[in-house]
This record gives sequence, structure tokens and C-alpha cells, in this order.
Amino acid sequence: MIAAQFEYSAPDTVSEVVVLLKHRPGARVLAGGHDLLAQMKQRRLSPTLLVDLRNLKDLVGISPAQAGGGVWIGAMTSCAAIAEDAWVQANAGALAEAALSMGDAQMRNVATIGGNLAYSDPAADLPAALLALDGIILVSGPDGARTIPITDFFRTAHVTALQAAEIITGIELPAAAARSASAYAKQAIPSNCYPLCGVAARVTLAADGAVAACRVAATGISDHPLRLATVEGSLEGTIPSAEAIAAACGLAGQGITFTSDLYGSGEYRAHLARVLARRALSRAVAQAGGNYTG
Ligand SMILES: Cc1cc2nc3c(=O)[nH]c(=O)nc-3n(C[C@H](O)[C@H](O)[C@H](O)COP(=O)(O)OP(=O)(O)OC[C@H]3O[C@@H](n4cnc5c(N)ncnc54)[C@H](O)[C@@H]3O)c2cc1C
Repeated sequence: MIAAQFEYSAPDTVSEVVVLLKHRPGARVLAGGHDLLAQMKQRRLSPTLLVDLRNLKDLVGISPAQAGGGVWIGAMTSCAAIAEDAWVQANAGALAEAALSMGDAQMRNVATIGGNLAYSDPAADLPAALLALDGIILVSGPDGARTIPITDFFRTAHVTALQAAEIITGIELPAAAARSASAYAKQAIPSNCYPLCGVAARVTLAADGAVAACRVAATGISDHPLRLATVEGSLEGTIPSAEAIAAACGLAGQGITFTSDLYGSGEYRAHLARVLARRALSRAVAQAGGNYTG
């Protein structure tokens, strides 16, 4: 199908983007277009104005954060650039793996992290990794700039904490603590590569080998990506043996209403959440220096 008619603008600054969005309620931001253009061609969305972010070169790249030793990732950074970045691979393995697992090379070269978060598909890959990594979303809007912890960002399918005329400008990630690592495990839908279920895990080990901190987050299983708090709570303070990890992951479904659709039943997704949580946690523990060998 062909999209409905729209106007097009490609401003040079974030403030110009915000002004356009504020004064044209029918306007939409265009990043890589991999979600938006498909929606427009199917006439699910018919924006009257597309505000293209392609000229905002300041929103592209990965560089040290202003404080704390972490990293800043610009909203217009492609998924391919994230997957290939040495800092991300070393300090935020779950994010590099999630980005690399997406679609195909052509898609990863064009699709952006900002678009992936703002579209808020319940089965998008990057949100799970960023939840496990305690990401912070940087936004700009008519009232200026503000930050949103990733745990507060996703509300339900395609609904986020972004206010009218606000855009994502970047994401900040904290530096990885000593004896800390993260990993992402995914069961992809063969026809489109989206996760039927994807689980990201991050583990920090104390000097005695016990789990000092643990984050586990899943996507594809519910109306929005979420942390698996029962799994986290069960592992923290324990020595992460194969048995302890398996026992913790057995709690992965607690309190969750799993999505059931043509791609898979809720029961199957619950099973995947347990299996993938175990795989992601096991790899994270091994990479963090734990003696897990299961
Ligand atoms: C063949 C194919 C396979 C795919 N496979 C996967 C997959 O395996 N895993 C996965 O997670 N996704 C997958 N996707 C989805 C898609 O590639 C991602 O969601 C992509 O990251 C979206 O980014 P974009 O830059 O293309 O966003 P766009 O399509 O340009 O925008 C998406 C939405 O976000 C808004 N938006 C964009 N940038 C911003 C911003 N900075 N601030 C505020 N709002 C913004 C737009 O207005 C729009 O509503 C696939 C898509 C295709 C076509």
C-alpha cells in the first residue's frame, strides 16, 4: 500500500524539532523508518508531517558519559554501530548481543536505538538489555531536557513515558562494576527475527563469589518489556551454582500474564523465559568470573 500524503521537514537542531512537534500535533519523528514507514504504508499511521532526525549529527555516536565513567549513546546511533562498539562489547555485552541479534545487516545499519525504544514494541530486543543494564533515557521537549530511568519508560505496547513533543536524544549506561558481566539470550521468530522471548541478565559478583547484584529482564512475553524481579531476588546473596541459577529461573513466570498469540502460547513463552533466563545468567556469571560450568 502507499502511505497517505504528508509534509516533510529535516531540521538541523533538537530545538527546531521540538518546536515543529509542539505546533503540529499530527507530526511524527522519523529516524531509520523501519517501523514508522511500514505503519504508514499500512495506513495504521498517517502523520501530516514527518520530522526527519537525519541532520541531527550530534545524536549519532557512542562516547564517554559526562560523569561516572559510563557511556552515552546517541538516539540516532544505528543498531549495527552499537553491536560493533568496543566499549559496549566490553561493558554492556547484553546490549551488543541484543543489537546483533536484530533482523538482518541491512536493517541494523539503518534502524536506530532511539526508534527501537520510542516505538516500544512489546517484543523489541534493545529494551530488555537496557533494563538489565540500568539505562537512563535522555529526552528533550518543550519544557527542556530531562532523564527517565528505563524502568519508568515502557508503559504498555507502543506507549511510553514520552510526553507530547518530546524526543529521545540519547541513552546513558553506567560503567560496569568490577566482576560484572551481562548477556542476552533469545528465541527468535524465524520469519522476522523478533524475539518470541528474549532475556538479558547482568550479574555482579562479590569477592567471595556470591551474587552482589543481579538484573534480569525479558521482552516478547508481555505487553511491555519488564524486569524479572523474583529471579533477581532469588539469586542475590547466593553462590551462583548451576542449581541456584536453575532454581531462581524456575520463578521467572511469577506474577506475569504471558502473551499468547499465533507465534506461541503463553505456556511456551513461560517455558522460554525460564530457559533463556538460565542461559543468559549462566553466561553472565561465567564472564563475571564465577566458577559456573553448567
Ligand atoms: C525486517 C525487519 C526486521 C526487524 N527485526 C527486529 C528485531 O529482530 N528486533 C527488534 O527489536 N526490532 C526489529 N525490527 C524493528 C525495527 O528495526 C526497530 O524497531 C528499529 O530499531 C526502529 O528504529 P528506526 O530508527 O527505524 O525507527 P523509526 O521507524 O524511524 O521510528 C519508530 C517510532 O519511533 C519514533 N521515534 C524514532 N526516533 C525517535 C526519537 N529519537 N525520539 C522519539 N521518537 C522517536 C518514530 O516517530 C516512530 O513512531 C525489525 C524491522 C524490520 C523491518
